[in-house]
Amino acid sequence: MSDVLALARPELRSLVPYTPGAYEQDCIRLNANESPWRAPGDPTERGLNRYPPPRPWTLRRRLAEHYGVSEEELLVTRGSSEAIDVLIRGFCSAGHDRLVICPPTFDMYRLYGAIQGVEIGRVPLLRSPDETRDFALDAQGVLASVNEATKLIFLCSPNNPTGTSMRGSDVESICEAVTGRALVIIDEAYREFADAPSFRELQSRFDHVVVLRTLSKFVSLAGVRCGAVIAAPVLIEFLGTVLPPYTFPTPSIELVLQALTEDSLRVSRERIALLRTERERLAAALLRLPQVTKVWPSDANFLLIETKDGARFTEAARRGNILVRTFSNETTLEDCVRITIGLPEHNDLLIRAVSTAERGNG
Ligand code: PMP
Repeated sequence: MSDVLALARPELRSLVPYTPGAYEQDCIRLNANESPWRAPGDPTERGLNRYPPPRPWTLRRRLAEHYGVSEEELLVTRGSSEAIDVLIRGFCSAGHDRLVICPPTFDMYRLYGAIQGVEIGRVPLLRSPDETRDFALDAQGVLASVNEATKLIFLCSPNNPTGTSMRGSDVESICEAVTGRALVIIDEAYREFADAPSFRELQSRFDHVVVLRTLSKFVSLAGVRCGAVIAAPVLIEFLGTVLPPYTFPTPSIELVLQALTEDSLRVSRERIALLRTERERLAAALLRLPQVTKVWPSDANFLLIETKDGARFTEAARRGNILVRTFSNETTLEDCVRITIGLPEHNDLLIRAVSTAERGNG
């Protein structure tokens, strides 16, 4: 058994996996208590009356190829959200173990941790008056916070909601220092919008480093709920015993396979280029608004801004029929607003809505 599994919940290490019924395409299926008839209007190739495969093997092969890893290094999940949940359930015992997060960050690490009854250690990102260095990872702080009970360290790069990428040397120093003590999970949901390369290289060097990817942003498929864990084969095999079989739905498998063609990936890459141009344009336009006091540089598909009055900014956008995001639970982000980069015309409408409100109030 690899050392990294010594960190997993002991009772799960000997868990006997569920044995799925056989599936052979040309056989008559009287083994799974399914309906023999297709539902009216069923558009799928496999048939929705049939269970999906226990694991989406074909999709796994395609995603492994897409991310440049071997099949044994990849687990398909329902969004990367499910990956976060499976990792926490697999490694953290309720009332006993602990995970570390670096706020302000994606709130689901806290939520799934709390659902599992896990203590949450918080090591805030470092603040700096220089926007280009603001929200940096506190690598020393993370290491100081790791104790015997700490099983998982969640790093998000580019980070949601700050848009900042973590410095490779900071992430590497954490990975090196916690070998054999904790897993480091690097959430790369926004990787495709950044210049920096993926942390996959770091993951390939360390068994205890895990990378999370998603199709929700780059390939415009948030609705199919497809994410991936990339990790050492021994970890993927273990996580496969924690994630129940048959969870990944047939329509999602078929739609993702159709969507991951070279042609559609080319379209996605072109859109990234447009989005990055829009990101710069919107940042400049926002900075010209008197209500906006700061726009942080972003490596993601959104901008974090600081305003004189977050509620007023949000209300002005709402009057223009536009929704933006505020963070009431995050004291460091008071009056900050996160704006997803939209279509150019939608970005223009936002600027107009907020400018109009300001003139009205002036
Ligand atoms: N990680 C981060 C940092 C996110 O911002 C999100 C979604 N907003 C997710 C993971 C989850 O994405 P999904 O479940 O759609 O893959």
